Amino acid sequence: MKNEKIPYKIYLEENEMPKSWYNVRADMQKKPAPLLNPGTKQPMTAEELSAVFCDELVQQELDDTTPYIEIPEEIRNFYKMYRPSPLVRAYCLEEKLGTPAKIYYKFEGNNTSGSHKLNSAIAQAYYAKKQGLKGVTTETGAGQWGTALSMACSYFDLDCKVFMVKCSYEQKPFRREVMRTYGASVTPSPSETTAIGRKILAEHPGTTGSLGCAISEAVEVAVSSEGYRYVLGSVLNQVLLHQSVIGLETKAALDKYGIKPDIIIGCAGGGSNLGGLIAPFMGEKLRGEADYRIIAVEPASCPSFTRGVYAYDFCDTGMVCPLAKMYTLGSDFIPSANHAGGLRYHGMSSTLSELYDQKLMEATSVTQTDVFQAAEYFARVEGILPAPESSHAIRVAIDEALRCKETGEEKTIVFGLTGTGYFDMVAYEKFHNGEMTDTIPTDEELEAARAKLPR
Ligand SMILES: *Cc1c(COP(=O)(O)O)cnc(C)c1O
Repeated sequence: MKNEKIPYKIYLEENEMPKSWYNVRADMQKKPAPLLNPGTKQPMTAEELSAVFCDELVQQELDDTTPYIEIPEEIRNFYKMYRPSPLVRAYCLEEKLGTPAKIYYKFEGNNTSGSHKLNSAIAQAYYAKKQGLKGVTTETGAGQWGTALSMACSYFDLDCKVFMVKCSYEQKPFRREVMRTYGASVTPSPSETTAIGRKILAEHPGTTGSLGCAISEAVEVAVSSEGYRYVLGSVLNQVLLHQSVIGLETKAALDKYGIKPDIIIGCAGGGSNLGGLIAPFMGEKLRGEADYRIIAVEPASCPSFTRGVYAYDFCDTGMVCPLAKMYTLGSDFIPSANHAGGLRYHGMSSTLSELYDQKLMEATSVTQTDVFQAAEYFARVEGILPAPESSHAIRVAIDEALRCKETGEEKTIVFGLTGTGYFDMVAYEKFHNGEMTDTIPTDEELEAARAKLPR
């Protein structure tokens, strides 16, 4: 098919969908650093982790050697309801920009949760059900993860308790109601329902919460409730593994037409969509079979890669979770009220952190108003109303395409369009009214949070 005109959308047939996830850690010579027990400072054992997470997910979390892990048939069947997701050739965007670059995006917003998060939610719910659990607890920031998990839990008939960061709970009542439609209970965090929530409220009265606080509350409820485990929508190795379905589909679609990307771009909050999108490409890079430029895009208000340090840190504010070695701003860092809620996390996947440290990928940060300018441009040209998080990748893809216009290079750019922005219209409203601001933390603020890193 090499000489055929590339269609606007490259779809895969059902039988071309991946049957296994790809575990990039298997091809890394230097592995990501292990999670540590915050008490003993020793690597977390499977037994310790299984108090918090489902058994099979613990195995996936700790597995640094198996390259392909079969996707259970039940999960593949669920995937078929909304996958394969299209790989779109952005002909309209290319033309409007007047660039010789060829731009593709992998669109993950075609499901009710509106993002890629469903890819891991369904896997995590499946393993919880298989273990005979009653339910799961989790946190949600902007609401996409909570929505995805509610959908997955209702499919497998599991109870789902979501702690939603208070400012989102108040700002996004519609997301909350979508979760309740799928049967989840939603509690604003910090709350009076947990010991850690009460402690945080006593120390910071009136706080509007953070992902770190909500994680602490969800973990507390999971470990103290019979038949419950905690699930997390990003950061962990297991989540990157599940999200590799994005990259595997992307690569299969490109291979169909003999297309080799030069640049692969994704937004990075905890690193799951980017880790998933790049997985098979990074695998080729690690094995010396191909080379790609890979760019992580983060908000200037929460710049974990570009201004953080590579160190062991807590994953949550309450300091109950294991320590992870990652690029971090410090678990004490509370980012400004940026509208890309899904990117407001102080840390980063330890797998991506290690790859970044080995200089196998790059990172850049962009300001909120530049992101929304790109989001609006993209909506008008390509039709899709993008999520603010996804628009970070759009911004950099457009910038790279404009660079090609200057140099005349016909580079092939692939970026991850992680979701839609229908629940983010308050942010769009602020942008349209000229009320959006760009808050960039000062060196002093970053230093203050860094000083509290565990030694
Ligand atoms: C959660 C989310 C992100 C960021 O999370 P990652 O784990 O870094 O992928 C990006 N885009 C959307 C739409 C999200 O919901």
